[in-house]
Amino acid sequence: MKIGIVGAAGRMGRMLIAAVDAADGAVLAGGTEAAGHPDMGKDLGELAGLDTAGVVLSSDPKALFAAADAIIDFTVPTATAAHAALAGETGTVLVVGTTGMDDVQQGAVTAAADKAAIIQAANFSVGVNVLLGLVEKAAGILPDAYDIEVLEMHHHHKVDAPSGTALALGQAAAAGRGVNLDDVACKARDGIVGARPRGEIGFATLRGGDVVGDHTVMYAGPGERVEITHKALSREVFANGAVRAAVWGCSQKPGLYSMKDVLGF
Ligand code: NAD
Repeated sequence: MKIGIVGAAGRMGRMLIAAVDAADGAVLAGGTEAAGHPDMGKDLGELAGLDTAGVVLSSDPKALFAAADAIIDFTVPTATAAHAALAGETGTVLVVGTTGMDDVQQGAVTAAADKAAIIQAANFSVGVNVLLGLVEKAAGILPDAYDIEVLEMHHHHKVDAPSGTALALGQAAAAGRGVNLDDVACKARDGIVGARPRGEIGFATLRGGDVVGDHTVMYAGPGERVEITHKALSREVFANGAVRAAVWGCSQKPGLYSMKDVLGF
């Protein structure tokens, strides 16, 4: 199976090159970056700190989509929207890890899923997907006297907030309570904001250092507090999950899938 990596010189891109290299039955079809990237033309294996792979970094996603069975995309929202359109044209499987998409960019991904298998997840780690299930279940059991707060911390390069995973956790908690997250979310607090409304789902964002991704969902009730935490210690967990999704996607019909579908939850 031939797998291409768009955004191959990024933090996740380099991890993904190594994950494809280590996966049984997977071959690196190529990798792209935006035109003008300083690593353009470099060998992908060397970019990831491995032996020479014999394929170099290019700025031609169209050729990569035509040559690969599946593409993995951890880039930026504008690029992912364009890549989704290419997946729609070529029918190539697309794994989307990019977060922070607006409605129009997300619409491009959803539209392309009519023509190609697309697997999209805010977090490709198996552990976080277990966490999503636990959070929904706990929110369904605990009454709304238990205030739900989602706390996340990431490295100081991260550009979107709250993280895509924090929002997915908020959605899981809202689903457990049978409410719509948009109706109850409080994504930031500053100044005299008043008392916390019952039923609110709050978010708190920390940024610093090289933290790969910590998430805690807190249920603060009368006289007790339940906290469920996941800590990613290496980006490898996301890369391995994304490669697993790419392989799985190659035997699926067109449609929009999640990591839960890949793992069979
Ligand atoms: P990064 O900035 O290190 O990498 C992004 C790369 O995309 C950069 O190298 C950039 O040059 C490249 N890029 C930009 N425009 C491009 C284009 N038109 N064509 C090809 N490449 C292009 O960021 P990162 O830490 O690797 O994270 C990337 C994204 O993945 C972020 O949205 C992040 O939140 C998300 N992420 C998701 C998960 C998950 O499990 N879903 C895990 C980690 C990170």
